[in-house]
Amino acid sequence: MGKPTGFLEFHRELPLARSPLERVHDWLEFHHHFPNGKLQQQAARCMDCGIPFCHTGTLLNGMASGCPINNLIPEWNDLVYRGLWREALERLHKTNNFPEFTGRVCPAPCEGSCVLGLNDHPVTIKSIECAIIDNGFAAGWVKPEPPAKRTGKRVAVVGSGPAGLACAAQLNRAGHWVTVYERADRIGGLLMYGIPNMKLDKRIVQRRIDLLAQEGITFLTNTTVGVHISAKKLREDYDAVVLCCGATKPRDLPIEGRHLRGIHFAMEFLHANTKSLLDSNHQDGNYISARDKHVIVVGGGDTGTDCVATAMRHQCKSLTQFEILPRPPDERQPDNPWPEWPRIYRLDYGQEEAQARFGADPRRYLTTPEKFIGDDNGHVKELLTVDVEWVKSDSGALIPKKIPGTERVWPADLVLLAMGFLGPEDTIFDELGIERDARSNAKAEYGRFHTNVEGVFAAGDCRRGQSLVVWAINEGRGAARECDRYLMGTTDLP
Ligand SMILES: Cc1cc2nc3c(=O)[nH]c(=O)nc-3n(C[C@H](O)[C@H](O)[C@H](O)COP(=O)(O)OP(=O)(O)OC[C@H]3O[C@@H](n4cnc5c(N)ncnc54)[C@H](O)[C@@H]3O)c2cc1C
Ligand code: SF4
Repeated sequence: MGKPTGFLEFHRELPLARSPLERVHDWLEFHHHFPNGKLQQQAARCMDCGIPFCHTGTLLNGMASGCPINNLIPEWNDLVYRGLWREALERLHKTNNFPEFTGRVCPAPCEGSCVLGLNDHPVTIKSIECAIIDNGFAAGWVKPEPPAKRTGKRVAVVGSGPAGLACAAQLNRAGHWVTVYERADRIGGLLMYGIPNMKLDKRIVQRRIDLLAQEGITFLTNTTVGVHISAKKLREDYDAVVLCCGATKPRDLPIEGRHLRGIHFAMEFLHANTKSLLDSNHQDGNYISARDKHVIVVGGGDTGTDCVATAMRHQCKSLTQFEILPRPPDERQPDNPWPEWPRIYRLDYGQEEAQARFGADPRRYLTTPEKFIGDDNGHVKELLTVDVEWVKSDSGALIPKKIPGTERVWPADLVLLAMGFLGPEDTIFDELGIERDARSNAKAEYGRFHTNVEGVFAAGDCRRGQSLVVWAINEGRGAARECDRYLMGTTDLP
C-alpha cells in the first residue's frame, strides 16, 4: 500500500476538461491530463483494500460492478504512488490489452464500486490508468512483442472492434496466425467509427493497430464476410473462426413521417462524420451536416451524447434530445446501494457543451416522439412529441403511458435516432446456422464462447448485446482463451 494516510490527506481531484465553448470549435480530445506528481498523490488515496471491490467485475442488478477485466487496480495504484510507472504498466497490460482506450472511454465501473466511495469520493482510477499507458508510450516502453514460436494454426476473426482486436492480440500471443476481416475501410469497429475523435483520438486507435500488425496479425479491410468471402469458406480455410461482428442493427422509430428526408440513424451520422474528418478534414463534404439546423436527437444514452457533441461541432442552430425514461436522481437511492453502478444524473460532455451554448441541458425526459411532420419537398420540418408517465401494467411490468394534452411541436431539420441496437446482422449467422438467444444475439455460453457450430466462437456485442468497450475486451480475451484450448487441447492464456 502506498501511503496509509493518503485517503485522509488528499481529496479526489480530476484533470479539468477543456472549456466547452472552446472545444466545440475543434475535433481534438476534450480532456486535459494531470502531471505525474498529481497522479501519484491521487494514487496515494488508494487504501489497498483487503477485498478490493474495484477489481471484482461482477454484474449486480444487471450493471457492472468493479472492473470487468479485473484490472489489478490496488497494485498499480501503489506502484504509481511510488513512481514505478514501468512496473505499473506491466501490471496493467497483464489484464488489459488496450488501456489507452478504456482509460479514455470507459464509464469506470471500478470507481462506482471503490470502497472509498462509501463515505468519500472514489480513487481517480480511470485517470491513473490512462496516465500509466500514455506515459508508457511516451517513454517508448510499449513495443511490438511477436510470439517466439508459431503453432501453425490459423484463426479468422470477423470484426475489428475491441472484442476482435483483443481476441486477435491474445491468439497471436499464443502463437497462432490470425487474420482479422473488417468490412469498413479502417480497422477499429466502434473505436474508430462510433466513438467520435474528441472522445478517443483516432491516432491513438491507429497506433495500437499498427503495433498489432507489427506483432504479426493480418488485417483485411473492405472485406465483408458473407459478401466478399462466404462464412462457410472461412470455416473451411481456417482452423477456427471467432465472430466479433458487433450488434449493428439499429432500433428504428416506426411512427408517422419516418420516411421523410433528414431522419437518420445515429451511426450513419457518426460514421460518415469521422470518415470525412479522417479522409479530408471534412473538405470532401461526405458527411451529414448539422450546421445551422434544428437538431433533434432521440435517445439519451452514450450514442445520443456523441450525436449531440458532433452536432455542436457542426454549429447546429438548436439542439433537443428526447429520453423516454425519467431524469435520474442526483444521489444514489436506497435501491441502488454501493457497490452497484450508481444510477445518478450526469452531465456528459455533449450535454455540457449544449448547455454552455444554449443555456440548458438539452435532454427532455419522459418525452417520446409521436409524429414527424414534413415540408412540401418531403423533408422533415417538425416533430410532434408527447409526455409519458411510467405505470404498472396488468402483468406488473412498468410501461410508458402517454399523457393526453401534453403534445408539443419542435422544429426539426435533422433528426438522429439513437435508441440502441437490436443484435447482430443475420447474414453470417444464418449462413453458418448459428443459434441465437431470445434477443437475437449469438447463443454461446459466457466463459466458453463456443457456438453450436464446431470451431466457431462468438464474443463482444454480437454475443452479449450492446455493451461497453471493457466488456468487449473481456469477451475477446475469453474467446481467445477458449479458442486456444480448442486448437491445442490446453491453454496458458488468462
Ligand atoms: C456511438 C457509440 C458510442 C459508444 N461509446 C462508448 C463509450 O464511450 N464507452 C464504452 O465503453 N462503450 C461505448 N460504446 C459501446 C462500445 O463501443 C461497444 O460495446 C464495443 O465497441 C463493442 O465491441 P465489438 O468488438 O463487440 O463490436 P464493434 O465495435 O461494433 O465492432 C464490430 C465490427 O465488426 C464489423 N463487421 C460486422 N459484420 C461484418 C462482416 N460481415 N464482415 C466483416 N466485418 C464485419 C463491423 O464493421 C465492426 O467494425 C459506444 C457505442 C456506440 C454505438
Ligand atoms: S476499492 Fe478503491 S481504495 Fe480499495 S483497493 Fe480498490 S481503488 Fe483502492
